[in-house]
Amino acid sequence: MNFQKNLQFAKELDASDPLKSFKSEFYFPIKNGNPVIYFCGNSLGLQPKITKDFIGTELEKWKNLAVDGHFEQPDPWIDYHRKSLDVSCKLLGAVPIEIAILNSLTVNLNLLLVSFYRPTQKRFKIIMEGGAFPSDQYAVASQVEFQAQHLGKGIKPDNAIIELFPRKGENLLRTSDILNSIKECGDELALVLMGGINYYTGQAYDMEAITIAGHEAGAYVGFDLAHAAGNIPLKLHKWGTDFAVWCSYKYLNSGPGSTSGVFIHEKHATNFELPRFAGWWGHDQKERFLMDKKFKPMKGAEGWIQSNSQIFSIAPYLASLEIFNRAGIDNLFQKSRQLTGYLEFLVNEINIEKGKEAIQILTPKSPQERGCQLSLVFLENGKKVFEELTNSGIVCDWREPDVIRVAPVPLYNSYSDVFQFYNVVSKII
Ligand SMILES: *Cc1c(COP(=O)(O)O)cnc(C)c1O
Repeated sequence: MNFQKNLQFAKELDASDPLKSFKSEFYFPIKNGNPVIYFCGNSLGLQPKITKDFIGTELEKWKNLAVDGHFEQPDPWIDYHRKSLDVSCKLLGAVPIEIAILNSLTVNLNLLLVSFYRPTQKRFKIIMEGGAFPSDQYAVASQVEFQAQHLGKGIKPDNAIIELFPRKGENLLRTSDILNSIKECGDELALVLMGGINYYTGQAYDMEAITIAGHEAGAYVGFDLAHAAGNIPLKLHKWGTDFAVWCSYKYLNSGPGSTSGVFIHEKHATNFELPRFAGWWGHDQKERFLMDKKFKPMKGAEGWIQSNSQIFSIAPYLASLEIFNRAGIDNLFQKSRQLTGYLEFLVNEINIEKGKEAIQILTPKSPQERGCQLSLVFLENGKKVFEELTNSGIVCDWREPDVIRVAPVPLYNSYSDVFQFYNVVSKII
């Protein structure tokens, strides 16, 4: 598409946007008397207006039915976590047996590492992206320390975790370098664990190629999809990825600290030999209330559930998925590519206006290698630009030392929003 640098053009795109009505389904914080322009959906998505009703329904059920809410139709709590399966499967590219909704993200990552990081004296290494989200770094290091204990003193985070960094002078990991590192690690490699999209650079990794390479090396492959779920198309089942985790409060708009999801590939659905931490809600549902001694896991991802469901955390997830489904997931991704493309175009225009590269875009140029987020490096005055954006009611996020992350999400951002961002930045630089 040929973009133009004027508000009229942006407004025309908005007018013909089939998803334009969804903006009015969200609450926006108010600043200086106006709703803000919100580009922080990669950190905490906005609240849908229907969320209150979804939670309210469960509050009423609790009030009126109390313990009977577990079994009474409609939507008994005992099956409540399954209500999201349809749309979760569409978002993740999964089949129902592969998904469970539970806990929160880092907890789930640790639980799945118990199953899929099984170090031996020979095969104990984990490949990760350098500069992974800190929680993931801590989780992986703690697993190495915990699980390698029985292997003796030699295996430590220092020699077990291989972090991949971009080449000197580059900002992004090359797929070929990732694949080569996996190959080189060969029969010492126990696990590849990467983000689907790196939270800092916005780079989407080639998850299919990474999965294939990891398996060729004889390792398990897992992804943290915190920045990918609801942001880019995923095909976990088809790729053959062993496991994945994601959170629901970023692109999936389910509220602070809300529930997480796990994906465990169907090929592991009846592998009861996989070690796991167990709890009663993962026990075979038919026998769960016999309260027998021996743990007999459910088939598939549900065999990793431990506790009865957090209804008030899953309710907002269901509200959000209802909106995703109504908007159409493919429609959202299509708009997302164009909206972010417009942001990219306008940032490049600023550089042309200034006659120099005032802003560098860290995120890959190719729409296949990114979601909606662009990470912008400000070669000067970044902090000042960020403050001016904040004062103008445009919410972005600042990462030391000089990066502003901007995430126009297709559900509640418009082309005019993106133009306003350009307008403020272009004036201040
Ligand atoms: C947001 C995010 C987290 C946060 O983890 P919580 O357990 O939900 O607090 C972890 N990892 C990644 C990659 C993230 O983007």
